[in-house]
Amino acid sequence: MEISKNQINSFRKWLKNATSIVLVPHKNSDGDAIGSVLGWWNILIKEGFDATVVVPDEVPSNLTWMSGADKIVVYQNDKPKGDLKLKEANLILFLDFNTISRCGDLSDVIKLLKTPKVMIDHHPFPDQELASLQFSNTSVSSTCELSFHLIEAMGWKEKVDVSAAECFYSGIITDTGSLSYNSSHLHTYRVVGQLVEKGIDKEKIHKELFQSNSLNRMKLLGHVLCHNLKVVADFSLAYITISQEELDKHCYRPGDTEGFVNYPLAIKGIDVSALFTEKVKDKFVKISFRSRYDIPVNQYSEQYFSGGGHLNAAGGEWHGTLEEAVERFRKTFPEFLSQL
Ligand code: 5GP
Ligand code: MN
Repeated sequence: MEISKNQINSFRKWLKNATSIVLVPHKNSDGDAIGSVLGWWNILIKEGFDATVVVPDEVPSNLTWMSGADKIVVYQNDKPKGDLKLKEANLILFLDFNTISRCGDLSDVIKLLKTPKVMIDHHPFPDQELASLQFSNTSVSSTCELSFHLIEAMGWKEKVDVSAAECFYSGIITDTGSLSYNSSHLHTYRVVGQLVEKGIDKEKIHKELFQSNSLNRMKLLGHVLCHNLKVVADFSLAYITISQEELDKHCYRPGDTEGFVNYPLAIKGIDVSALFTEKVKDKFVKISFRSRYDIPVNQYSEQYFSGGGHLNAAGGEWHGTLEEAVERFRKTFPEFLSQL
């Protein structure tokens, strides 16, 4: 993996001068976002840096076992502490996102700071203004994989202990559906091999990530698959809707709908799937898209739902009702497909 020597030297210099570092992932954090911030955090803390992870909103419960998760500052729950940490910082690391809107309520405070910022991310079309130093690569499976390549290029590989390795491994596994997609390059497996070599407990990690569901989440999944899954066979589309009432009935916790969007894709003949989740408190509908082949759901999401993401995995928002969002999808997706 080629990473520019100049960039690495700049990063090293900035780290050397950093007395207080804040690491920020994207809102609605997933395994790659939390895995990458905590992977770096574990290394930095061990190296004697003063480092703090500040996340925009709550961490999904299947990720809270990672080392350092108990020290995370959740901005939504403790704005004064988040603001203080950000103001004190003389280096900010952005992990797993490339536009400022992706860090939610944190974006307003971050925009005002002149602090040096470094972005490490694998999404296409980075905002060049986001950070003065950008490590951006779309060929990697995940930000966790890219982080390991960067650490290797910095000569820091020995500093990756088992705690950091568990975090990075988790991000690779969750962003690739356990190495089933976004994982056709040998470089991904080389990193996985080196993380395994660090002594990680793979079985424990998979159990924590995928077999620690609450009964409520399992029942919500069963409910939506049974009642809310719709197929538009003419266009190989399928989608799921979840209303706020259904979330409430199943005592929704952050992360409970993670992965639901993949289920419609498991139907033979379906190449595009969408998940519409009503968020009454935040006054919008959150949408996730998944696709196969070269159907660019990131382009579609950007065009119709103010979103973005990867070619085959993207997300967006609709500031209106659940019904309107679904209607828009059903009307515009066939048009979008016909223009490809
Ligand atoms: P998910 O559907 O799992 O929330 O997200 C899939 C991918 O799309 C992730 O890489 C995520 O970062 C990106 N993504 C999700 N929602 C949004 C959004 O509202 N805007 C943008 N630009 N990207 C998103
Ligand atoms: Mn990612």
